[in-house]
Amino acid sequence: MANEFAPCTAEQKQAVLERLAVIRQNIAESCAEAGRQTDEVTLMAVTKTVSPELINLAVDQGVHVLGENRVQEFLSKRDAYRSSAEVQFIGHLQTNKVRQIIDKVSLIQSVDSLHLAEAISKAAEQNGIVMPVLLEVNIGGEESKSGVSAQELPKLLEQVQKLSGIRADGLMTIPPPCTDESEQMRTFTAMQQLYRQMQQLAPLKILSMGMSGDYAAAIRCGATLVRIGSALFGARYYPPSAQQ
Ligand SMILES: *Cc1c(COP(=O)(O)O)cnc(C)c1O
Repeated sequence: MANEFAPCTAEQKQAVLERLAVIRQNIAESCAEAGRQTDEVTLMAVTKTVSPELINLAVDQGVHVLGENRVQEFLSKRDAYRSSAEVQFIGHLQTNKVRQIIDKVSLIQSVDSLHLAEAISKAAEQNGIVMPVLLEVNIGGEESKSGVSAQELPKLLEQVQKLSGIRADGLMTIPPPCTDESEQMRTFTAMQQLYRQMQQLAPLKILSMGMSGDYAAAIRCGATLVRIGSALFGARYYPPSAQQ
């Protein structure tokens, strides 16, 4: 797959640099509005469909944390990544694919069932590591979305804390797409409250929320990591042959 990417044009590279400057400015402004320090928020570059060349450009600009959605795409591109890049898995993860990524990522953000948590824990133990994870919460309550409900979260957190190959470091959410800022704030505020409640149960330090369309609101509501794809790399192009 890595070979499928045509070399990037100078225009494409320039566009990424310009978008990155805008994103950093927006992050700084949202942090200032919320009385937070800019370095409290990690900017993750979400890499799906993006060529390693452009991803490395972002890494060279100091965006060291990459977010991967798809196991196969990740495995096909990772050899081309800068060695300084730190990869986290953010997509839906099938238990039978855990072994393929367990020694290649620094954190898994998308744990939403005990079944998956157990599979990660077992694979991590076999590799002699403890894998940090985030629990994915379906804060919008949408039926089609992955993520555990707010009601089920305390129980899953408790169960995860008993597994020795895995460590819960925080929460992640993908809210329903929404352009209304007050609605975004309502959702993220609910998530922030849940995060604070869960911090009574475990030493959580990462709240992963906010994407291209809503990261400003997420930062105002306490996000410590925002996952940005299209606002950094441009609209995603899916070749007809690669539809999933
Ligand atoms: C694709 C994706 C993102 C980034 O989406 P953009 O809207 O392009 O920023 C963030 N998080 C997850 C889990 C994703 O799959």
